[in-house]
Amino acid sequence: MAADRDSSPNSDFLDDWDDLDFPDDIISDRSRRVNVDTRPQRGEAASTPTRRRPPPAGRHQAPARHAAPARTAAKRRLASSEPIPAPARDQPSGQKHRPIAKKRRRRRLILCLSLVFVVAAAFVLHNLLVFRVKDFQVSSPAADRQVLSWKSAGGIEAYDIFDGDGELLAEVSAEDGPQYMVDGLESATRYTYSISAVNSFFGKRLSRAVTCSAYTLPEAVSAMTALNSGTGVLLSWEDCGAGGYEVEYADVSGEEQTLDAKAGDAEGFSIPDLQEGAQYMFNIRSFIQDGDSRVYSGWTSSEPITAARAADMTGVRVDEPMVALTFDDGPDYEDCTERILAALKEYGGHATFFQIGIRSADLPEKLTNMLKAGHEIGCHTYDHAHYGDEVTPDDILSADDAIEQACGQRPTVFRSPGGMTTDLIRSVCVDEHMPIFYWSIDTEDWKSRNADSVCKAVMNHVKDGDIILMHNVYESTADAVERIVPFLAEKGYQMVTVSQLVQAKTGKPPVPGTQYITANITN
Ligand code: ZN
Repeated sequence: MAADRDSSPNSDFLDDWDDLDFPDDIISDRSRRVNVDTRPQRGEAASTPTRRRPPPAGRHQAPARHAAPARTAAKRRLASSEPIPAPARDQPSGQKHRPIAKKRRRRRLILCLSLVFVVAAAFVLHNLLVFRVKDFQVSSPAADRQVLSWKSAGGIEAYDIFDGDGELLAEVSAEDGPQYMVDGLESATRYTYSISAVNSFFGKRLSRAVTCSAYTLPEAVSAMTALNSGTGVLLSWEDCGAGGYEVEYADVSGEEQTLDAKAGDAEGFSIPDLQEGAQYMFNIRSFIQDGDSRVYSGWTSSEPITAARAADMTGVRVDEPMVALTFDDGPDYEDCTERILAALKEYGGHATFFQIGIRSADLPEKLTNMLKAGHEIGCHTYDHAHYGDEVTPDDILSADDAIEQACGQRPTVFRSPGGMTTDLIRSVCVDEHMPIFYWSIDTEDWKSRNADSVCKAVMNHVKDGDIILMHNVYESTADAVERIVPFLAEKGYQMVTVSQLVQAKTGKPPVPGTQYITANITN
């Protein structure tokens, strides 16, 4: 702590004091003088030695440690009116210049080190931030290709792109743009890439690799079929190996509905409770799950479909021969209907009964029995009084009401008296969601009233897909049916309703307002 001592005025003073040649009486009172009062006391001579008296000649020089600082010495000279000598270069005061030079050298060193640090920091920052590739990602994904893109930066000559195994895929020059397309990929597969920048300043040295990964899209659904199913629609499509499917359609109010379908739903996905007669178009896309998000394919759309009530196809073998037996003008007031129903029941057959409204109102139990046995009930006008152009909308509507009243179910199909159809009839049938059925075999049972004749008409001409016309109001017809039904069963014909026939043969329910002559022939 020599410096502290040298720079302390109190210690300087004490050192100087030690160098003075005081009389013993004064020395004995030294501490009091120093600490209390240095002014001359009363009675003391003005020439009483003080600390300001110069040392006597011939006294030894004080050691450098005890040398008074220049400021103290100057004060002393001032007090003793001595002239102030010019400081010599080699005097003790020159020792002050050495720390200053040291300080300058130290400053220069710090400056140099700072510069080195700044350059190094700039180098590191450039390497870490600028030279590193940014925003490396997969954009514009597809099922069989991926486009890699990134943000270009100055000073980069090229980019090396590697696949997930670290194999070099491509070296893309900076001029080719900050993107690269990888094609020939598998669909619905996750691919990983990494990219490094190459800078000529560093030779072939690469920057730190940046990685990204993404799924290729799943395959889009190649085709979708929409079929009426009950009062809904049954969708089916080719399973493309996706994790799941998303089905979209607009309901009657125009509001978009979205449903999730599982991978196993491709063979049949039911959309229930659609409005009968309303037209729908369905869109579907596949997806794979990627964490919490989904990767979607493009959309595939179905053909527009009019929701119609579809037949229950339980027990129908669509690839085997079938015919539709149809009975008009009933129900009868005798037991013809019961005999026909019994014959069909014995052979597991079903038929369609186009009934008259007023008779249905009289004989509701017969209609109820038909429905219970799985047969189909059609409308044949209210009282069979009008034909062709004479048929009024009320002839149809009041019959529908009477039949619904009788058995609890509105007719699902229509046959005009005599088979004559008009635009008005078709229009009413569209509104009532009823397809119209003519026939391909007319037994003329009403004319012949002969069972043999009726049997011949069927047995000699029947073929797959026929619609056979009879009436459940003649005993002769009931006789004929009791022979025809076993015959058809033996020949391998299924006996089905008209709606089942068309749906089995065309894959779709019959269309309201359209008249069918056979399953495949309309007019
Ligand atoms: Zn009739």
